[in-house]
Amino acid sequence: MSGSFPWTCPYCNRDTLIVYPQYSNERHDFNCNNKYGNLGIYTKVIVCPNSHCKECVITAALYRIQGNVRDSNPLLEWQLKPQSSAKPYPDYIPEPIRKDYEEACLIRDLSPKASATLSRRCMQGIIRNFWCVSKNTLFEEINAIKDEVDLQTWKAIDSVRGVGNIGAHMEKDINIIVDVEPEEAGLLIRLVEDLFQEWYINRHEREERSKALIFVAESKKEQRKNTKKAKTTEE
Ligand SMILES: [Zn+2]
Repeated sequence: MSGSFPWTCPYCNRDTLIVYPQYSNERHDFNCNNKYGNLGIYTKVIVCPNSHCKECVITAALYRIQGNVRDSNPLLEWQLKPQSSAKPYPDYIPEPIRKDYEEACLIRDLSPKASATLSRRCMQGIIRNFWCVSKNTLFEEINAIKDEVDLQTWKAIDSVRGVGNIGAHMEKDINIIVDVEPEEAGLLIRLVEDLFQEWYINRHEREERSKALIFVAESKKEQRKNTKKAKTTEE
């Protein structure tokens, strides 16, 4: 790790450029007569430069060392802090939905099938809560909102639904555990994140904008009324 690099903080979600001394890394080589030969553990710390955040993000990786050089791919990798890739979401997204999402992220690599099950339950929770739709299967629920959602979001939902076992099992009970690859579990998580953004966050921002607009319009009206009143008293 050297120079500067673009980075997104998993705590505050800000895009930023990391420059020294906002990061630190260290290599610990060992052999101790282990069965794999020379190994090295790399630990890496990045500190968010956002003054309201300043969180530490810590990762570690195990490499085989040949000569004094490490292999290009690690044997193992660990996300130490935060322990999952879950992004922080605002609390106007219902808590049970956020909890399912956070757990789906936490176990994505350890158990993709459990993660995918949580993501599907999360998707169902979102559709039921946001669109007030409730049918027997997630598949039917998705079909029921087809004409309501914008084309791009629909394409994203439909493309994930077309992936391997995930798609096949959207037609069944969401609680059935399906074997999926970590990448497929990751796709479902990304879809849930997109739906948070497209639906909850965009709606909230729209509401905030129109609230601000109404406030400005009301104060203008009030101002005009007061000026008129002042004029009549003067006369
Ligand atoms: Zn941050």
